[in-house]
Amino acid sequence: MEVYPAMKRIPKDKFVLAMSPNNKPVLTAKSGATVLFETSDCFGNNIHTSDDLFSSVGWDSINPATGPLYIEGAEIGDTIKIEVLDISVAEQGVMTTAPDFGVLGERIKEEVTKIVPIRNDKAIFNEKIHIPITPMIGVLGVAPSEEEILTGTPGDHGANMDCKRLIQGSVLYLPVFVKGALLSMGDLHAVQGDGEIVVCGVEISGEVTVKVNIIKDILLPLPMLDEGDSIMTIASDKLLDDAAKTATKRMHTFLMNELKMDLHEAGMLLSVLGELKICQVVDPLMTARMEFPKWVLEKYDYTMP
Ligand code: CA
Ligand code: CA
Repeated sequence: MEVYPAMKRIPKDKFVLAMSPNNKPVLTAKSGATVLFETSDCFGNNIHTSDDLFSSVGWDSINPATGPLYIEGAEIGDTIKIEVLDISVAEQGVMTTAPDFGVLGERIKEEVTKIVPIRNDKAIFNEKIHIPITPMIGVLGVAPSEEEILTGTPGDHGANMDCKRLIQGSVLYLPVFVKGALLSMGDLHAVQGDGEIVVCGVEISGEVTVKVNIIKDILLPLPMLDEGDSIMTIASDKLLDDAAKTATKRMHTFLMNELKMDLHEAGMLLSVLGELKICQVVDPLMTARMEFPKWVLEKYDYTMP
């Protein structure tokens, strides 16, 4: 990976299991700082061979999120812009299945663990299937305003959104609910499909380098993600239907508020250019995203803040 000057680093043994306004920050950084987060996999790095089953990992080790990082000057109502500069992953990933877990849970009668080696940027799924990796961040969030929320649950504060487009080069925008924002992350996947059917991607430990910036006086419908040729609004809810509707309404709001589009025209444009996608359907809340092409923003001379 590239080396960024005077970069701060948070080791993986500094982690939380819940995003909470009461978590003590482990590091403080100024707006504009670059910080490296070392992350354990979602099993707390406790699965090493195919003999290690999911049920052997205690719940006090599941979904550790490294942090939290206190961002100086971040006030309630601000937006945090998180630029993902770099993601590097370990040489071995893990997948598991377990009864009653995920979309296929009722068909799964026993626990199985699969070790997935990473070689030459490919996940060696089996002898025939070598999958090019696209490392992504499963959990990236800030503290919610009041009660703590387990790192495994997604929401407007981010956390376990399991969005496969949260990759190197992407920019995530999150709201600030508490002073300092209290940013934490973990749960890297070497690769994951939309849906996350058996409740895991290729789970893997690694390192994530981000640049954090505070944005004042802009009210984007958050969380928002900027990756490749698209911007995305993301929403989580008990039912996928509701998550999908909220993600869509958030992009509609963005088009009206930021591009000053008429309500009907914004709706029509979403109907022809919007891509409504599923992030995951296996966490305590379901997550959907509305993708929208950036070239339209250019036509309106709008650039993301
Ligand atoms: Ca996850
Ligand atoms: Ca995961």
